[in-house]
Amino acid sequence: MSTFQDLGLQDNLLQAITDLGFEKPSEVQEKAIPILLEEETDLVALAQTGTGKTAAFGFPMLQKINVDSRTTQGLILSPTRELCLQIANELKLYGKYCKGLNVTAIYGGASITDQAKQVKRGAQIIVATPGRMKDMINRRLVDISKIEYSVLDEADEMLNMGFKEDITAILSHTPDEKNTWLFSATMPKEVATIAKKFMYNPKEITVGHKNEGSKNVSHEYYTVNSRDRYQALKRLADANPQIFSVVFCRTKRDTQKVAEQLIEDGYNAGALHGDLSQNQRDLVMKAFRNKQIQMLVATDVAARGIDVDDVTHVINYQLPDEIETYTHRSGRTGRAGKTGVSMVIVSKSEVRKIKSIERIIKKQFEKKDIPDGSIICEIQLMALANKIHNTEVNHEIDKHLDSINEMFEDTSKEELIKKFFSVEFTRFYNYYQKAKDLNVSGGDRAGGSGESTRYFINVGRKDGFDWTSLKDFLKEVLELGRDDVFKVETKDTFSFFNTESEHQQKVLDFFTDYTYNGRFVNVEISENRRGKRRDGRKGGKRDGKRNFSGNRNDGKRSDRKSKRSNSGGFGDSRPRRSRR
Ligand code: ADP
Ligand code: MG
Repeated sequence: MSTFQDLGLQDNLLQAITDLGFEKPSEVQEKAIPILLEEETDLVALAQTGTGKTAAFGFPMLQKINVDSRTTQGLILSPTRELCLQIANELKLYGKYCKGLNVTAIYGGASITDQAKQVKRGAQIIVATPGRMKDMINRRLVDISKIEYSVLDEADEMLNMGFKEDITAILSHTPDEKNTWLFSATMPKEVATIAKKFMYNPKEITVGHKNEGSKNVSHEYYTVNSRDRYQALKRLADANPQIFSVVFCRTKRDTQKVAEQLIEDGYNAGALHGDLSQNQRDLVMKAFRNKQIQMLVATDVAARGIDVDDVTHVINYQLPDEIETYTHRSGRTGRAGKTGVSMVIVSKSEVRKIKSIERIIKKQFEKKDIPDGSIICEIQLMALANKIHNTEVNHEIDKHLDSINEMFEDTSKEELIKKFFSVEFTRFYNYYQKAKDLNVSGGDRAGGSGESTRYFINVGRKDGFDWTSLKDFLKEVLELGRDDVFKVETKDTFSFFNTESEHQQKVLDFFTDYTYNGRFVNVEISENRRGKRRDGRKGGKRDGKRNFSGNRNDGKRSDRKSKRSNSGGFGDSRPRRSRR
C-alpha cells in the first residue's frame, strides 16, 4: 500500500492533498498516477464512479503542465455542466499551491463571452462539455492547438449522450502528439471504438472488474403489468417508509409525469430532467440534499451529476435503453461504504433483459414480489409507532393538557393508542384493502415466454421502410423499448411485426387515426405468420389528423397521449401521505 509521496507527486501537490485530508491514494490513483507521471502515454482507465478518478488524472496533469505559460495545455471533456464544475473546482483545490494556475470551466447555459474572457486570461487547463467546447472552437474563442494532455472523463456517458461527433470534431483541432487519457465506468463497444480511433497503444488499467457494479448494492426485480408500473412504484415506496431514492425513467416526459403524480399523491417527490432550467434543477437538487425530497425522479442524463452519498434505493421505473447505463444508475446508491438496493420494475417481456444485466454486473438479481396490502399496512403502522416513540414532546402542548385529559377521561390507554394510530392508519388500510395483487406470475427470466401478437400494417418498402427503419418508427411512435417490437418483415406495400400481447391494446389504439404520406395507416392483428389479413377490423376512425411528421408538439396528438396514459395507471391517487 503506497502513499501519495511514493507515487512521485511534488511537494506543492502533496501539501494540497494533506489540506484535503486524503490519507492514502485510492486504487485508481495508485495505478494511474505513476504511469501518467513517468510516461508520455495514452491511457484507458476503467473505474466506477466515486473511486477518485478526478485526482487520478488531475494530479499528474497539474504536475506536468507549465503554470508559467498562459498557453492552454490540458483539456478535459466531461458529459455535463455539473461534472464540469465539479472537476474544475476539484482541480483548483488540488492546485491551490500551484502559483499562477488558471482552470476554466466551459459549459452550456452560461455566458459564452464570460467564459471566453476567462480562457483569454491564460487558462492552462480547460474543463469543458463537448457541445459548448465545439461552439467555442467554431467561433475561434479558444485555441487548443497546443494541447499536450486531453482527458475524456466518463467517456461512456458522453457517448451515450450523443457527443461522439462533437468529441471527434474537437480532437481534430488538437495536435497528434498529445496524450489522451480516457476514463470510463463501463466499456461498451462505442468506447472501445473511440479508444482505438484516437489513442496510440494505450496502457490499460482496471479497478475492480470491467463494468462491475458496487459491492454494496443488492439488486432486485419485480414483475408487473406495464399498466401497473406506477402502482408498483408507490407500493415499493410505501413498503420503505425511510426511503431516500432516485427513481429513473426513460424519457423527460415520463420523469415529469411520474414526479407530478407522486407529488399529487402526497409523496415528497421532485423531478430532475433536461427541460428544467438550471435554476429549477439547482433547487430540486438542494431539496434532495436536504432530504425534503425523498423520491427524486430523474432521467439518466440529468442524474449524472448527483453526488449524494446516502441514497438508500435506486428504483428503475423503466429499464434504460442501453443496458450498460444500469451500472451508472445502481451506482447512485451503496456509496461511501453504505449499503443500497437497486430495484427494477419490469414487465414480463423485459424479464430477459435482467439476465443481460446480470452478465454485465456479474451479480444475481433477486426476484421479489411487490408487497401486498397487509404487509405494507404493518410496515407503515410500525414506522408510525417508531416515529411516535422517538418523538420529543413539545411542551407547548402542556397548557392544553387539562382539557385534553378531560376529553379522554373515560378512555383506556389501550383504546387511546388504537384511536390515535387509526387517525393515520385508516387511510392506508382502506386503500390497501381493495388493492389487488400486482405481481405477474411466470416472468421467467429465460424470457420471451410471454404471448406475442403479430400485426399487419399497410406500409412497406414503397413507403421507404426497411425492417430496421420500420422497427425504429414503431418503437418511437408507440413509445416501446428497443426489444419490444420484433419479427419485423417488410413487403412492398405492407409489412408485419410482433409485440408482446400485453402491448396489443396500445398498438391498436394508437393506429386508429394515424396518417402517413396522406394515407391512413391500418394496423390489424394478423392471423398467421404469413400474414393473412383478418377481416374484422378495418382501420378505425378516419377523422383524425395525425401525421407522420415526427412533430411531438402536435396538440391533438399529445392530448390523446396524455389521456391514454391516464388510463394507464397514473390515474389512481390514493392513499395520500401526510407531507412532512
Ligand atoms: P469519480 O470521478 O471516480 O466518480 P471523484 O474524483 O469525483 O470520483 O472522487 C469522489 C470523492 O472522493 C471526491 O469527493 C474526492 O474529493 C474524494 N477523494 C478522491 N480521492 C480521495 C482519496 N485518496 N482519499 C479520500 N477521498 C478522496
Ligand atoms: Mg468523475
